[in-house]
Amino acid sequence: MTRRSIATVCVSGTLDDKLAAAAAAGFDGIELFENDLIVSPWSPAEVRSRCADLGLSIYLYQPFRDFEATPHPAAALRRAEHKFEVMAELGADTLLVCSSVSAEAMDDDDLAAEQLAALANAAAGRGIRIAYEALAWGRHVNTWDHSWRIVRAADHPALGLCLDSFHILSRSSTLDGIEDIPPEKIFFVQLADAPHLRMDVLQWSRHHRLFPGQGSFDLSDFLGRLKNYDGPLSLEVFNDVFRQSDPERTAVDAMRSLLALEEVPAAPELRAHAFTEFGVDGRSGPELQEALRGLGFTHTGQHRSKPVELWEQGACRVILNSAVTRPRTPGTASLSAFALTSADPAQSGVRAEALLAPPLPRTRGPREAELTSVAAPDGSTILFSRDDDDWRADFLATGEIDTGGAGLTHTDHLGLAQPFDHFDEAGLFYRSVLGLTQLTTEEYAAPFGLMRSRAFATGDRTIRLALTVALLRRGDWAPAVVDPQHLAFATDDIFATAEAIGPTLPVPDNYYADLRARFALPDETVERLRRFGILYDRDATGGELLHLYTPVFGGRVFFEIVQRTGGYDAFGETNAPVRMAAHRHARLSS
Ligand code: MG
Ligand code: MG
Repeated sequence: MTRRSIATVCVSGTLDDKLAAAAAAGFDGIELFENDLIVSPWSPAEVRSRCADLGLSIYLYQPFRDFEATPHPAAALRRAEHKFEVMAELGADTLLVCSSVSAEAMDDDDLAAEQLAALANAAAGRGIRIAYEALAWGRHVNTWDHSWRIVRAADHPALGLCLDSFHILSRSSTLDGIEDIPPEKIFFVQLADAPHLRMDVLQWSRHHRLFPGQGSFDLSDFLGRLKNYDGPLSLEVFNDVFRQSDPERTAVDAMRSLLALEEVPAAPELRAHAFTEFGVDGRSGPELQEALRGLGFTHTGQHRSKPVELWEQGACRVILNSAVTRPRTPGTASLSAFALTSADPAQSGVRAEALLAPPLPRTRGPREAELTSVAAPDGSTILFSRDDDDWRADFLATGEIDTGGAGLTHTDHLGLAQPFDHFDEAGLFYRSVLGLTQLTTEEYAAPFGLMRSRAFATGDRTIRLALTVALLRRGDWAPAVVDPQHLAFATDDIFATAEAIGPTLPVPDNYYADLRARFALPDETVERLRRFGILYDRDATGGELLHLYTPVFGGRVFFEIVQRTGGYDAFGETNAPVRMAAHRHARLSS
């Protein structure tokens, strides 16, 4: 049984907030950061009893710095004695010693081994063990294999290794040989993911660590090499956003990241995007009706008992729900649910539950069909249906027949802006719960700030999801649409579609002048794009995206029409600033 642990530094708050969050998320124990203890009014003994009350073990106390190969061994040992006393009171039995960054440290492995053995000896007398960790920026010792050579040379039973995935994977050093370390010499394993960044590794570590599955490191490979290790798996994630976000949510996000690394029920195949539902009111409802009508949709179904409408075109289905109770500003619309066709809806639900998808109240409001449903981090609902028959039974035909409208064939993707605090959480949630693959992460300068976008999809690209977030928290000057949501439909002929639909978002001529220069497109092609306000992107292998947008409806929602050719697999992120500025201009002139 894996013991799951989280470092107190991962979450926001004072020590009591952190412990409560770790316990509520189901962790078995913690790594206690010294600073969290120092600022706590509780004595170490009180911390111990608080942890015991919460069912948390204190697996590790950290950090102890600049010890090995020091010219002042007596003073260093005296410092350690103080930690041992604190640890005895805490009931913590493992001390993390990270490799020295001191300018005084000597480049002498024999001396390092000798001093660490002496430290381990002093610790052993108190029933304490020393876990030695190579910091990626350690002065002389900065790789796992170097720390292992020293630990092996010291040859003391109370001295072992702490292996931290960040320090190891950030240096791209080889993992070969990790599997040969005797398991009893690995005292502790810390897990952190991170995005690939070219920057100083200390800054990278302090600000940009992520929970497993949120970054780019191959943690499955790392863990696969530690098959015989049976100590705690501990998350040690320094992240600027997590440090100031709701600790309870962060702790759940953290736990989900560990669960997703382990054996969770397999994700059933997702076969189609069944429908997207928007919650509307008396003002935004008619706006969206008109918009859908303009895009060639037909109001084909009316709910048996609720003010809920089904609009269709090809395999594109939109539900307008006036009975959703989600609190929102009058006149606004927002995505309240989306439904995916699953090969095994019940199993999709079991997996979601295993990954801590928040439980939904049993009353399903207007949706009476028995669909498996889970709550997404933004409060919307994800439904899993077996086929269209599951949910269509709720609707009576209006008599209006979908005749294919403007040639929209199916849902291409959902674009969901995330609140600043919850972007990485949302990414891990959708990726793990739905079993999606992470595509690229893009960053771009937009009119109202820097944006990051990260996309996820099924292997066959039947389901695509693009999440965006502002890189910095919004300030007072923030005229952008707050957390916009968009639904993109596919067409096989965007020019024919554009000809058939109502007004779309105007795109400035400057964009087309630039397009001509960037892609060496024929003048007549550019003119055709310009006439319809179609944006263009091309990938390195010649795949093309042609796409256009509608204005914003209900204060928050807009639609996109896309035509992909040649295997184009992105979302036209380079055009997002153009769209955002155009939406701003449209608002100012309306
Ligand atoms: Mg560490
Ligand atoms: Mg899009």
